Amino acid sequence: MTPTTEFALIRRYFAALTPPLQPGEVGIGDDAALLTWPRAGTPQRERSSSAEKYPPMLAVTTDTLVAGRHFFPDVDAEALGWKALAVNLSDLAAMGATPEAFLLALTLPAANPTWLERFAAGLAACASRYGAALVGGDTTRGPLTVTITALGSVPRGEAIRRDTARVTDDLWVSGYPGRAALGLAVRRGELPATLPGAAEWIDALERPEPRVALGVALRGVASAMLDLSDGLTQDATHLVENRPELALLLHHAALPLSPLIAGGAPLEVAYRALLGGGDDYELLFTAPVAQRDAVAAAAAAAGIAVHRIGTVIPRPAEGQMLLIKETDGTIRPLSPQGWDPFRDGAPKEDRPWKAAR
Ligand code: ADP
Ligand code: MG
Repeated sequence: MTPTTEFALIRRYFAALTPPLQPGEVGIGDDAALLTWPRAGTPQRERSSSAEKYPPMLAVTTDTLVAGRHFFPDVDAEALGWKALAVNLSDLAAMGATPEAFLLALTLPAANPTWLERFAAGLAACASRYGAALVGGDTTRGPLTVTITALGSVPRGEAIRRDTARVTDDLWVSGYPGRAALGLAVRRGELPATLPGAAEWIDALERPEPRVALGVALRGVASAMLDLSDGLTQDATHLVENRPELALLLHHAALPLSPLIAGGAPLEVAYRALLGGGDDYELLFTAPVAQRDAVAAAAAAAGIAVHRIGTVIPRPAEGQMLLIKETDGTIRPLSPQGWDPFRDGAPKEDRPWKAAR
């Protein structure tokens, strides 16, 4: 049988290749893998200093961007260079890890000096802003594809996983999810470029800022976390899918819709972009109610707005993972909207909101 989702495909063909994990390690299934490093080195009890006894863990992640699928083939190369690294650093941020280094695997149809100069400039800008050093890669000829592998570090025991939320925790999101999907709508001519929010939305789409400082500041505060790449509702289910006793209740009235509307997005469009649009690279996280002040302090320190948009609740008997409390107080199930390249009935085109037209 042909696997019908990305996760089914990975489970069936690749999950068996994961070695047994040591305590504190994370393999396939989170934003980044977390590894004791070296993995097969001296047993830790034989090391002397406490820094050596408890060395930081390695966080490692990789993401591919394919021309015509993940970006318009004629997108500004400078923006592409920025974004290719930013989306990887976002996965590190989602673990609470600090970026250290990255590898760049570049497949190019031709060596165009003007294009390469701009691409390198965008890459360099993101790398220096977030302190990641290019340490290797691969260059080959073929259809334009950019693959980056990012390496980061996080103190042992302090990484923030996806599957560790608790009932009664608050659900929080950083920034204003939906902006990237609105930026794409402008790029496609579906929304006028003259709207007051258009420039900001396009910037959110083409030059996302990985929330590295916020991710680090949330260590010891957030109980679970991931970054938003495939749409808020779809990614939110990843916080509870391996926790059969948990569900998420979103509060409609608390969704940060007003800036999207102030930017000129029609209400219905803004709502769909916020809940289902991809490519935002904001952090979605849970934290105990007692940590509300600590979350606010972390957000202030990182200079990023955060919004308390829901609650972790017991999974209803009917089994829904995601529900929404409407402004009139009624609660209804919310079906995840978003993207999976291998789901039955999914459009053949990847992430439709960012595919080329
Ligand atoms: P993200 O959107 O956070 O980058 P993905 O949806 O790309 O995460 O992947 C989900 C999980 O599956 C991650 O832990 C990733 O490392 C793992 N994964 C994806 N593709 C493969 C593969 N071909 N082999 C092994 N693991 C994979
Ligand atoms: Mg991720």
